[in-house]
Amino acid sequence: MTEPFSTAKLIAAKEIVVALRHADHQAYFAGGCVRDLLLGVEPKDFDVATSATPNVVMVMFPKTFSVGAHFGVVLVCTPDRDGSEIATEVATFRHDGAYSDGRRPDAVRFSTDPREDVLRRDFTINGMLLDPMVFEETGDAAAATLDFVNGRNDLNAKILRAIGDPELRFNEDKLRTLRGVRFAARLGLEIEPLTMNAIRAAASEIGQVSSERIRDELTLMLTEGHARRAFELLDETGLLAQVLPEAVRMHGVEQPPQYHPEGDVWVHTMLLLEKLKPGVASTLAWGALLHDIGKPATFRPPDPKKPGDRIRFDGHVEVGVRMTEEILRRLRFSNEDTEQIIALVKNHMRFGDILQMRESTLKRFLRLPRFDEHLALHWMDASSAHGDLRLYEFARERYEETPVETTSPRLLVTGKDLIAAGYRPGPRFKAMLDAAEDAQLEGRATTTDQGMEIVKQRFGVPSA
Ligand code: ATP
Ligand code: MG
Repeated sequence: MTEPFSTAKLIAAKEIVVALRHADHQAYFAGGCVRDLLLGVEPKDFDVATSATPNVVMVMFPKTFSVGAHFGVVLVCTPDRDGSEIATEVATFRHDGAYSDGRRPDAVRFSTDPREDVLRRDFTINGMLLDPMVFEETGDAAAATLDFVNGRNDLNAKILRAIGDPELRFNEDKLRTLRGVRFAARLGLEIEPLTMNAIRAAASEIGQVSSERIRDELTLMLTEGHARRAFELLDETGLLAQVLPEAVRMHGVEQPPQYHPEGDVWVHTMLLLEKLKPGVASTLAWGALLHDIGKPATFRPPDPKKPGDRIRFDGHVEVGVRMTEEILRRLRFSNEDTEQIIALVKNHMRFGDILQMRESTLKRFLRLPRFDEHLALHWMDASSAHGDLRLYEFARERYEETPVETTSPRLLVTGKDLIAAGYRPGPRFKAMLDAAEDAQLEGRATTTDQGMEIVKQRFGVPSA
């Protein structure tokens, strides 16, 4: 068997299948990994589906965790050759009962019928099983696949289709609407018309899914490649209007053609999303999505009384920062991610001033946490508009040639020095320390004495 990817996870899952079969249970690879093996791409994980009940699975393997006892999912940990551990999800075949909360079944019934198990899965491309032994013998994923839902045909024809009655399936679990969009974008699939209609019909109820899950799905869409297509599909299905109505408002917001020949704010933002590579930092991806979110609210057409006036978005950064704060709070982002995404939105226009910045201002700019993300956002922003990369090149060169010791040097003047010189701690301290640091960053002060001298000149000698 020849795989184009690392095989440790595959071997771990296969050994679990072998052990289950030795004990007379049925066991297969299931879901996303089968789809990916058929496509010849590396699966993120190899999930196992079995007729053995969770209790049996927990007894059979020495190290297990019940991760979804209610749904019969057990995490089986097996040692890798290098001593690390591989965790494989083993799920008992099951039939899901009624759904009343729009997200999870009220109860599940375990089953010994693999066909029943695939019928509860979301999409035909995700509803296939694979016999790893046949795969090992033949090296042919197609020959090893058990396909009760016609998933192979759909995968070959590049069609995303819900298993069973689409309306029913999206009604059961509204998260499937977002998953459908995500898989269609990631794998370049057309959404089959009945599936599409059902997603549209269920879109208004996406609020039944927790904000965290919505956030995680959107983040995956932004970071798996194909973010543009994902957001266009979110828009077409009506999901975007539910989860991020602020983004829908970017449509039709005209921009001055001399800076933005590409078109309106929506088109510009889509061009940025198109540039997000798989595996991109999620903060950068959200920054790209939200950097101009303040534009629709601040749009001002040219003043007809002022010849040569252009469209303006005065204050769009400040408004954008406030909107971003609100959106990230709503989607329950961590404080750390929120801080970085807001910093990206807040600073994105500052590249325009970079040639005029005082040395100290430039150094403070270059030392923003994860400046590489600011740089990448500016590159995307400029390449998705006028295409002039001179400011980007300038910033990149300065960033690369300026070591951290230069942008964040050991401070010559600290609060202690001010106190020692006789200044009383108070609100002026920050301005004093900033003045000393500016002088240091600009090379006007290279010793503590010189730094203190500058403070004294600016703020007066301490009163006795
Ligand atoms: P990825 O490569 O992104 O992990 P995946 O297909 O493996 O994609 P998972 O979220 O890991 O997706 O889920 C594994 C499998 O479980 C899916 O392939 C699908 O068969 C099933 N599944 C997951 N979530 C749902 C859901 N909400 N409704 C129905 N079936 C689901
Ligand atoms: Mg998976």
